[in-house]
Amino acid sequence: MPKSTMETPGFIKNLQQSIDDPQHWLTRRKLAAFGVTLIVAGGVIGGFERSRSEPAIQAPTVVDLPVPDRSTGTHPLDDAPPGPVPEAIAWEPVKVRSGQTLDGIFREQGFSIARLHDILALNGETQGLTRIRPGDVFEFERTDSGELKKMRYALDEARFLLVHNNAGQLSAELQQRDISAETTTAEGVIDSSLFLAGKQAGLSDAMIMNLANIFGWDIDFVLDIREGDRFMLVYEKLYRDGEYLREGRILAATFVNQGEPYRAVWFEEGEVADYFAPDGRNMRKAFLRAPLNFRYISSNFNPRRMHPVLKRVRPHRGIDYKAPRGTPVYAAGDGTVIRSAYSKANGHHVFVKHANSIVTKYLHFTKRTVKKGQKVKQGQTIGTVGSTGMASGAHLHYEFVVNGVHRNPRTVPLPKVQPLKGELLAAFRAKSAPLLTQLSRMESASLYARRD
Ligand SMILES: [Zn+2]
Repeated sequence: MPKSTMETPGFIKNLQQSIDDPQHWLTRRKLAAFGVTLIVAGGVIGGFERSRSEPAIQAPTVVDLPVPDRSTGTHPLDDAPPGPVPEAIAWEPVKVRSGQTLDGIFREQGFSIARLHDILALNGETQGLTRIRPGDVFEFERTDSGELKKMRYALDEARFLLVHNNAGQLSAELQQRDISAETTTAEGVIDSSLFLAGKQAGLSDAMIMNLANIFGWDIDFVLDIREGDRFMLVYEKLYRDGEYLREGRILAATFVNQGEPYRAVWFEEGEVADYFAPDGRNMRKAFLRAPLNFRYISSNFNPRRMHPVLKRVRPHRGIDYKAPRGTPVYAAGDGTVIRSAYSKANGHHVFVKHANSIVTKYLHFTKRTVKKGQKVKQGQTIGTVGSTGMASGAHLHYEFVVNGVHRNPRTVPLPKVQPLKGELLAAFRAKSAPLLTQLSRMESASLYARRD
């Protein structure tokens, strides 16, 4: 499951304070530095000449999310803690073009190549500057005579690498950027698709995926979604140096599916960092409801949804997910591939064996991406939707077999992950209470609005 790697210590405490004081529902707080580490080249001392012929190596990636309209949010910037005083530097930004190296940029700027060599030799971080990518931005400050005075480069979303040149005396430092979060809410009602409802609520597609991933063990987002389903969430917005940066973590959410509310709250303490239901049950389960990436499916109302298969006269012992060719199909749970093959009837197909004598089967792939004997993790892509074998159109045929008996994966009771207990449960109850209060307020308001 995709999961944000950002640490947010103490967020619930802040949130609790903000809820206790309704005048200050929105809070801002500082985040610790993100745990993104720079990949440092091994043994490339003085490697700048060599770097010219080396292809650019992928640096740690930072997810780039679209920026929603600021007018939809509330931004109490007035009570924000003062950020660092902006430096009065006229930075000249230079964007790295495809195929360009740092020495190419230095030549273009008229800077000394010998100086660049010295900069790269300064330390591990500056050495890493040989690994730049197209689109990266370098910023320079010049002396009156046009020499390089300062240079900075964003190592990740929270840090600059800053290089000073004091008349030939070089030094480098890491500069922490000021990142703060505020808590906000969003809600929506689905009338055609989850993604459309999300967009109308001011959420990015990535955020909607995060929301769906929280509930992906309980709700089949391909077959179960109906018009009138609703969601409401409390989440973080991140600001960097006072400017909106991106959406942060979902702190709590409700998804009302066919009239039934599912609720989840983020909880982090000690080794635990996950979403839990209000009673302390982990939202994770041994099997995903829908074993495919529904992002690829444009309509949330799958025409084959009323096809529960097990009840038909001539038993069709699985579920069909109509989906575009190429849609990634996931292993529904952790297991081992016991078959990855082609047959006239099933086309390209994969069988996975799981704990508790459960086998899941996936038919009609365009392409298989796993081999027999391979171990797979829940959510790992094992192939892509197609129409190979006896299939009328592109779809995934999915079967769930327990002890050799076909079961309906949508209704079969599934083994559960350990719930919170003892002190952890007590801590969770205390921390989740204000968030759940906030959600239930939104739920009632949303119901009320729909009656008008
Ligand atoms: Zn089928």
